[in-house]
Amino acid sequence: MIQLTDINKYYSVGHNKLHVLKGIDLNIQGGELVSIMGSSGSGKSTLLNILGILDSHDSGEYRLAGHVIDSKLTQKKAAWYRNHLIGFVFQSFNLLSFKNAMENVALPLYYQKVSRRERNKLALEYLDKVGLKEWAEHLPSEMSGGQKQRVAIARGP
Ligand code: ADP
Ligand code: MG
Repeated sequence: MIQLTDINKYYSVGHNKLHVLKGIDLNIQGGELVSIMGSSGSGKSTLLNILGILDSHDSGEYRLAGHVIDSKLTQKKAAWYRNHLIGFVFQSFNLLSFKNAMENVALPLYYQKVSRRERNKLALEYLDKVGLKEWAEHLPSEMSGGQKQRVAIARGP
């Protein structure tokens, strides 16, 4: 599902180059549950950004479900992969403040062209699974950090 081969990533800091990911090889099968651990600044977020196609690597190969992911990928294809193959729960949740919990959960389904009726029904099911069905009509500003995080999890794939 996720295959990394000899991935390198540099950041430019002034005139210097910071070599953050040094020859990363990683193989994750469908259904595997993996955690990435390391001290602060070791490159975990950098790696996740690359896996989520939010940032690009400098060398090596990244294959996602068999597709080569590199800087030649069009915006359109990258968006399709993100929408269909990747789910991200951000540290900052990234919920839309002007949409209620159900609408936030339903948003990715909108981009998958699911009808409004069907996506709201699915969104309520997902919210129910994380124990937030009663909170469907509430805005993020009316929820606690933990509740917002669960809405973000319900929105995941
Ligand atoms: P972690 O998530 O493991 O704490 P990061 O991936 O955020 O680590 O950062 C790895 C290293 O890269 C750190 O030394 C950090 O300062 C540096 N870094 C992260 N993002 C940038 C950036 N956009 N520009 C320059 N350096 C960065
Ligand atoms: Mg981090």
